[in-house]
Amino acid sequence: MSKHVLVTGGAGYIGSHACKALKAAGYIPVTFDSFITGWKQAVKFGPLEEGCLTDRARLDEVFAKYQPVAVMHFAALSLVGESMKDPAKYWRGNVLASLTLVEAAVAAGCLDFVFSSTCATYGDQDGVILNEDTPQRPINSYGASKRAIEDILANFGASHGLNSVIFRYFNVAGADPEGEIGEQHIPETHLIPLMLDAIDGRRPALTVFGSDYQTPDGTCIRDYVHVSDLVDAHVLGLQWLEAGKGSQVFCLGSGNGFSVREVVARSREVTNRDVPIIEGDRRAGDAAKLVSGSGRAQDVLGWTPSRSDLSVMIADAWRWHQAGDYEY
Ligand code: UDP
Repeated sequence: MSKHVLVTGGAGYIGSHACKALKAAGYIPVTFDSFITGWKQAVKFGPLEEGCLTDRARLDEVFAKYQPVAVMHFAALSLVGESMKDPAKYWRGNVLASLTLVEAAVAAGCLDFVFSSTCATYGDQDGVILNEDTPQRPINSYGASKRAIEDILANFGASHGLNSVIFRYFNVAGADPEGEIGEQHIPETHLIPLMLDAIDGRRPALTVFGSDYQTPDGTCIRDYVHVSDLVDAHVLGLQWLEAGKGSQVFCLGSGNGFSVREVVARSREVTNRDVPIIEGDRRAGDAAKLVSGSGRAQDVLGWTPSRSDLSVMIADAWRWHQAGDYEY
């Protein structure tokens, strides 16, 4: 009998790719989504339950209906800039919502929990290559809210036997290579989709946020990882928990850093089109450099990322971007 997995945010970019990977691995992904930022059309791989994570009664109902073996928790507010302007939104929308979800999971006896955390929990560490043991010192409310959820999971592990696999993502990019799903946010704030918009004229130009960082070309450096590789790690994390191997934290990145200008240059190559650029100010809350130096997911989970080459990620995103489905 197939096992159900409750996927919060299953209608979003990463959550929908996770649902596809879960289905391929023989699970039934149950999407739980508020549709504040998700897309009904992205729910293609299992049942849908609409609801808000702060609604405990609704969560109890869904846990009782499906008796999931595990939770994969993607639903979150994730915009660094917005989090700096409205921290309450992030503490309520991320921390309070996640606390409610964790309490509901524990009450239902669903004790395996896979969580989307972020390299934004590290803050700005002066170019240090980051791994699971690097101290977390977030510099924006988004990162602070995710770190608080990590603490909640650890506390409930100690008190209620909750087992969690925490993934700290670097910059997730690309789209399903089969073109069934891809990235769309409203408002869009992420570098690669905005750049592709500028390339095909949906937007007039890409604004580069700051050229005076302490990096070789002055622009911020990030570590981009393909969404399909990222969700493969989640399936491995789930299997790790199901095997009773206990709580763990893993960084998920490619280990390669690219500056904004390098991403722009690579996009010119991949698309063979010009990228109109405007030089802008820094965006509040941005660290100069975030790059993963961890091989733990490879060594411990046996994760083998295969599409996290920058050109492949841009090409997959570009194919999705050009397809009609992009409008959902
Ligand atoms: N960025 C940029 N212009 C944009 C959007 C992003 O220069 O219109 C930069 C941003 O400052 C960061 C990098 O691109 O250094 C990646 O930003 P994104 O919002 O995609 O992801 P984040 O790093 O915030 O998770």
